[in-house]
Amino acid sequence: MKILLNISDLNKAISKVGNLGFVPTMGMLHSGHISLIKNSKKKCKKTLVSIFVNPKQFNKTNDYKNYPRNLKRDLNILKNLKVDFVFLPKKSEIFKKRLKKIILNKNDKILCAKYRKGHFEGVLDVMRQFFRIIEAKYTFMGIKDYQQIYLIKKYLSKKYKRKIILCPTIRDKNKVALSSRNFLLNKKDLKIASFISKNLLIFKSILKRNMKLRNLLINNKKKELKNKFNIKVEYLELRNEKNLSQIIKNKNYRLFIAYYLKKVRLIDNY
Ligand code: AMP
Repeated sequence: MKILLNISDLNKAISKVGNLGFVPTMGMLHSGHISLIKNSKKKCKKTLVSIFVNPKQFNKTNDYKNYPRNLKRDLNILKNLKVDFVFLPKKSEIFKKRLKKIILNKNDKILCAKYRKGHFEGVLDVMRQFFRIIEAKYTFMGIKDYQQIYLIKKYLSKKYKRKIILCPTIRDKNKVALSSRNFLLNKKDLKIASFISKNLLIFKSILKRNMKLRNLLINNKKKELKNKFNIKVEYLELRNEKNLSQIIKNKNYRLFIAYYLKKVRLIDNY
């Protein structure tokens, strides 16, 4: 496994790889990340994993500071998986070339973009640098961050001619979507997250049978979750899977949630 710290070494290492798979991460790896890496290893000749906690996508300094990190543990996991390349850039390296600021369209300022101001601009900013630097045939990303994939496809992948492979959300045995932020939760919190996840999985099938009443049902569910678990629900919304609008005509819809368990913000979609 080659560890690459700068763009020049990265270029040397990957320049002759025709079929490269790329898995961008912020580290603190879990089975969700591992599933992306396994998908890449299956589909591509070589796999490059990046670990970079991108400060630009955090709208709160404390959230960035408290984001869980453990590079030694991550490198061990990647070594055991026989990953070919690991890219560990510094902020100054990845943002060395200054590019024009990305501005989201008004229509896209929904869900997490509405509540985390500047978050996706930061995500798009770093992904644009990665796409510019890394000529990967496929980039593997998780449906867990559905809006992220939607925006990367919309704003970047055509321009940079990158193919994104969507990978399913990996959950623990209690249906909690794996996330690096789960490392910040205690047992009791994880139990609540599990109740919420199981509850929403059932709720989606209830919605399916009562689509005409969806607004009322969703409003009630939001109140129920708040009262039952004493959590702050930022949003609970049903959106068109294709364009994330609220116009839903057929079965192409997803239920999106963002909520706070104490100070930890969790997102999921079903
Ligand atoms: P992160 O390190 O949180 O930025 O995530 C890196 C990549 O892993 C993103 O494409 C995420 O969507 C994906 N990912 C995170 N959690 C999961 C999960 N539970 N299942 C599948 N993919 C995930």
